[in-house]
Amino acid sequence: MRVIIIGAGIGGTSAGIALQRLGHEVHLYDQIRENRPVGAALSLWPNGVKVLNWLGLRDEVAALGGRMDTMAYTDGHTGETMCRFSLSPVTEQTGQRSYPVARADLQALLMDTVGAANIHLGMRMTGIAESDDEVTVTFETGETATADLVIGADGARSATRDYVLGERIERRYSGYTNYNGLIPIDPRIGPADQWTTYVAEGKRVSVMPVAGDRFYFFCDVPQPAGLPYDRADGVAPLRQAFAGWAPGVQTLLDGIDSDASFNRVEIWDVDPFHTWSRGRVVLLGDSAHNTAPDIGQGACSALEDAFVLGLVFATTSLGVLDALQRYQSARTERAADLVLRARKRATETHGFDPEITEQWYAGLRQESGENVIRGILGNITDSPVT
Ligand code: FAD
Repeated sequence: MRVIIIGAGIGGTSAGIALQRLGHEVHLYDQIRENRPVGAALSLWPNGVKVLNWLGLRDEVAALGGRMDTMAYTDGHTGETMCRFSLSPVTEQTGQRSYPVARADLQALLMDTVGAANIHLGMRMTGIAESDDEVTVTFETGETATADLVIGADGARSATRDYVLGERIERRYSGYTNYNGLIPIDPRIGPADQWTTYVAEGKRVSVMPVAGDRFYFFCDVPQPAGLPYDRADGVAPLRQAFAGWAPGVQTLLDGIDSDASFNRVEIWDVDPFHTWSRGRVVLLGDSAHNTAPDIGQGACSALEDAFVLGLVFATTSLGVLDALQRYQSARTERAADLVLRARKRATETHGFDPEITEQWYAGLRQESGENVIRGILGNITDSPVT
């Protein structure tokens, strides 16, 4: 089978590797001119890591992953520990450690594995046309390419999604802006093997270890969409949002090199929908289920897509259309559940209803770890990768 994948992010590359391993000819096209992932890092939970293991990347991903043994919540104002517990139950109950990884490292690994020769950069897809037995995509350059299957792994603002659904759907603002980046590990912020999160006022400041003695940091600030921001202002919005917060937070802000590693992302998601394919064209990753990062499952869900897509093509024999229907039936409910779980969590943590967030803070002060672990496992239990 000849396969075209639009988008060479985590979804597109992992699907590409899965289909290459079945012997298919895969070509990826991306509008970017060079590999510059948006966002500094991400947490790969066991469901995502297991797909990477299945793709043959077990040792490579383990080498990129930070060692995250414990988790703690800290009062953002006082710096007092609200709760602290081991994450080993997550590993024991799923059979796999979780790995926070630098995004550029993971992206480079996936691109190398799928093969640079199979990735065509500077190619923005602008049109799709199907006949009974093939599908042709057109690029902004005027070039075209034809295949048996087109996978739209073209992210949150997917043009493939417009084609599959026959309409453009609106994204929904999640109510907050996320600032993230990488800094050298500093124990004054949190222990080197711990996921540490400072919370207060519906805001949060969090650090996770990644390979190379670095912390991935992210800070959430509830605010309206569309506020002006000039990159020259660097961390000024964070200084304002977290003025008077605990010394660990001030140390983090002091450590940010906004020229080297600093991103500002407004968080949006998309209401779940259940039509993911049209003829020989199918959606995968954020194009199918754009998810707020509140449970760290967007990329993991894209990896689950790649796993199931690989599985249906490996195990069925009735052709592309049948395989895509099976993929769609296996995936849409699961992906929708994660989108809605993330949305619920965003509401709980960001003070959109102050009473709910205050209750959450009160619960954290009593937390043994059991409830948080149950929540993390709840995001993973229904994964197709058991
Ligand atoms: P993308 O990575 O968006 O890739 C889409 C690609 O398609 C892009 O390279 C783009 O250039 C290309 N493209 C788009 N349109 C066209 C076109 N017309 N023609 C050609 N190319 C095109 N997930 C987790 O699992 N854990 C986390 O901890 C986590 N943290 C996150 C933190 C933040 C702040 C954010 C915003 C997201 C986070 N996510 C996390 C979600 C995760 O980043 C995404 O779910 C994941 O990157 C989606 O991958 P993708 O390949 O589907 O899409």
